[in-house]
Amino acid sequence: MSLESLYQEIILDHYKNPHHKELHAPYAIEVHHNNPSCGDEVTLRLSLNGDSIGQVSWSGVGCSISQASTSIMSDLVTGKTMSEALELERIFLELMQSKGNFSGDVEVLEDAVALSGVAKYPARVKCALLGWMAFRDAALRAGSS
Ligand code: ZN
Repeated sequence: MSLESLYQEIILDHYKNPHHKELHAPYAIEVHHNNPSCGDEVTLRLSLNGDSIGQVSWSGVGCSISQASTSIMSDLVTGKTMSEALELERIFLELMQSKGNFSGDVEVLEDAVALSGVAKYPARVKCALLGWMAFRDAALRAGSS
Protein backbone atom coordinates (compact mmCIF):
# COMPACT_ATOMS: atom_id res chain seq x y z
CA MET A 1 0.00 0.00 0.00
CA SER A 2 1.41 3.39 -0.96
CA LEU A 3 1.80 6.12 1.63
CA GLU A 4 -0.78 8.17 -0.22
CA SER A 5 -3.43 5.48 -0.06
CA LEU A 6 -2.57 4.76 3.57
CA TYR A 7 -3.15 8.45 4.32
CA GLN A 8 -6.46 8.39 2.42
CA GLU A 9 -7.47 5.39 4.49
CA ILE A 10 -6.69 7.23 7.76
CA ILE A 11 -8.71 10.28 6.65
CA LEU A 12 -11.69 8.15 5.58
CA ASP A 13 -11.58 6.20 8.81
CA HIS A 14 -11.74 9.38 10.91
CA TYR A 15 -14.51 10.69 8.65
CA LYS A 16 -16.62 7.55 8.99
CA ASN A 17 -15.88 6.96 12.67
CA PRO A 18 -15.07 10.39 14.07
CA HIS A 19 -13.59 10.61 17.56
CA HIS A 20 -15.08 12.89 20.26
CA LYS A 21 -17.91 13.86 17.89
CA GLU A 22 -20.66 14.24 20.48
CA LEU A 23 -21.16 17.51 22.32
CA HIS A 24 -20.51 17.06 26.02
CA ALA A 25 -21.60 19.04 29.05
CA PRO A 26 -20.44 20.62 31.24
CA TYR A 27 -17.93 22.64 29.28
CA ALA A 28 -16.02 25.88 29.76
CA ILE A 29 -16.21 27.33 26.26
CA GLU A 30 -18.20 26.66 23.12
CA VAL A 31 -17.22 28.08 19.74
CA HIS A 32 -18.69 27.76 16.28
CA HIS A 33 -16.53 28.11 13.19
CA ASN A 34 -17.38 27.67 9.55
CA ASN A 35 -15.63 27.58 6.23
CA PRO A 36 -18.04 29.19 3.76
CA SER A 37 -15.92 28.32 0.72
CA CYS A 38 -16.69 24.63 1.26
CA GLY A 39 -19.73 24.69 3.55
CA ASP A 40 -17.94 23.04 6.49
CA GLU A 41 -19.13 23.79 10.03
CA VAL A 42 -17.80 22.85 13.43
CA THR A 43 -19.15 23.52 16.91
CA LEU A 44 -16.51 22.75 19.50
CA ARG A 45 -16.73 22.53 23.27
CA LEU A 46 -13.72 22.62 25.52
CA SER A 47 -13.29 21.95 29.19
CA LEU A 48 -10.07 22.38 31.12
CA ASN A 49 -8.58 20.21 33.81
CA GLY A 50 -6.27 22.58 35.66
CA ASP A 51 -3.77 23.74 33.06
CA SER A 52 -4.55 20.79 30.77
CA ILE A 53 -7.11 20.18 28.07
CA GLY A 54 -9.78 18.15 29.83
CA GLN A 55 -12.29 17.34 27.16
CA VAL A 56 -12.76 18.39 23.58
CA SER A 57 -16.08 17.50 22.04
CA TRP A 58 -17.58 18.66 18.80
CA SER A 59 -20.27 18.37 16.21
CA GLY A 60 -20.02 19.32 12.61
CA VAL A 61 -20.97 18.88 9.01
CA GLY A 62 -18.89 19.16 5.89
CA CYS A 63 -16.35 17.48 3.69
CA SER A 64 -14.29 14.49 4.73
CA ILE A 65 -11.13 16.61 5.16
CA SER A 66 -12.75 19.05 7.60
CA GLN A 67 -14.45 16.36 9.66
CA ALA A 68 -11.47 13.99 9.71
CA SER A 69 -9.08 16.78 10.64
CA THR A 70 -11.31 17.82 13.57
CA SER A 71 -11.48 14.21 14.74
CA ILE A 72 -7.68 13.87 14.56
CA MET A 73 -7.17 17.20 16.33
CA SER A 74 -9.49 16.26 19.19
CA ASP A 75 -7.51 13.05 19.78
CA LEU A 76 -4.21 14.89 19.71
CA VAL A 77 -4.93 17.76 22.08
CA THR A 78 -6.93 15.88 24.73
CA GLY A 79 -4.90 15.60 27.93
CA LYS A 80 -2.13 17.89 26.70
CA THR A 81 -1.23 21.02 28.61
CA MET A 82 -2.57 24.23 27.12
CA SER A 83 0.88 25.22 25.82
CA GLU A 84 1.57 21.76 24.35
CA ALA A 85 -1.80 21.81 22.59
CA LEU A 86 -1.26 25.28 21.14
CA GLU A 87 2.22 24.22 20.01
CA LEU A 88 0.67 21.26 18.14
CA GLU A 89 -1.78 23.66 16.51
CA ARG A 90 1.15 25.85 15.43
CA ILE A 91 3.04 22.88 13.97
CA PHE A 92 -0.07 21.69 12.10
CA LEU A 93 -0.66 25.21 10.75
CA GLU A 94 2.95 25.30 9.55
CA LEU A 95 2.45 21.95 7.81
CA MET A 96 -0.71 23.22 6.10
CA GLN A 97 1.09 26.37 4.96
CA SER A 98 4.06 24.43 3.58
CA LYS A 99 2.49 24.05 0.11
CA GLY A 100 3.42 20.38 0.32
CA ASN A 101 7.12 20.92 1.05
CA PHE A 102 6.95 19.25 4.49
CA SER A 103 5.64 15.80 5.21
CA GLY A 104 5.20 16.33 8.96
CA ASP A 105 6.68 14.44 11.91
CA VAL A 106 4.52 11.42 12.69
CA GLU A 107 5.98 11.27 16.22
CA VAL A 108 4.53 14.70 16.92
CA LEU A 109 1.47 14.95 14.71
CA GLU A 110 0.45 11.26 14.68
CA ASP A 111 -2.58 10.78 12.37
CA ALA A 112 -2.48 14.46 11.36
CA VAL A 113 0.43 13.69 9.00
CA ALA A 114 -2.20 11.98 6.83
CA LEU A 115 -3.43 15.48 5.98
CA SER A 116 -0.01 16.64 4.76
CA GLY A 117 -1.03 16.14 1.12
CA VAL A 118 -3.83 18.69 1.56
CA ALA A 119 -1.20 21.45 1.80
CA LYS A 120 -0.76 21.21 -1.98
CA TYR A 121 -4.37 22.29 -2.52
CA PRO A 122 -4.91 25.84 -1.21
CA ALA A 123 -8.70 25.53 -1.50
CA ARG A 124 -8.69 22.54 0.85
CA VAL A 125 -6.28 23.93 3.44
CA LYS A 126 -9.13 25.86 5.07
CA CYS A 127 -11.07 22.60 5.37
CA ALA A 128 -8.18 20.94 7.19
CA LEU A 129 -7.63 23.95 9.46
CA LEU A 130 -11.27 24.54 10.46
CA GLY A 131 -11.35 22.36 13.58
CA TRP A 132 -7.86 23.46 14.62
CA MET A 133 -8.78 27.14 14.37
CA ALA A 134 -11.92 26.45 16.41
CA PHE A 135 -9.78 24.71 19.02
CA ARG A 136 -7.26 27.56 19.12
CA ASP A 137 -10.07 30.08 19.54
CA ALA A 138 -11.65 28.05 22.37
CA ALA A 139 -8.30 27.45 24.09
CA LEU A 140 -7.31 31.10 24.02
CA ARG A 141 -10.70 32.15 25.38
CA ALA A 142 -10.63 29.49 28.08
CA GLY A 143 -7.09 30.47 29.04
CA SER A 144 -7.96 34.11 29.45
CA SER A 145 -11.14 33.60 31.47
ZN1 ZN B 1 -14.28 21.30 3.23
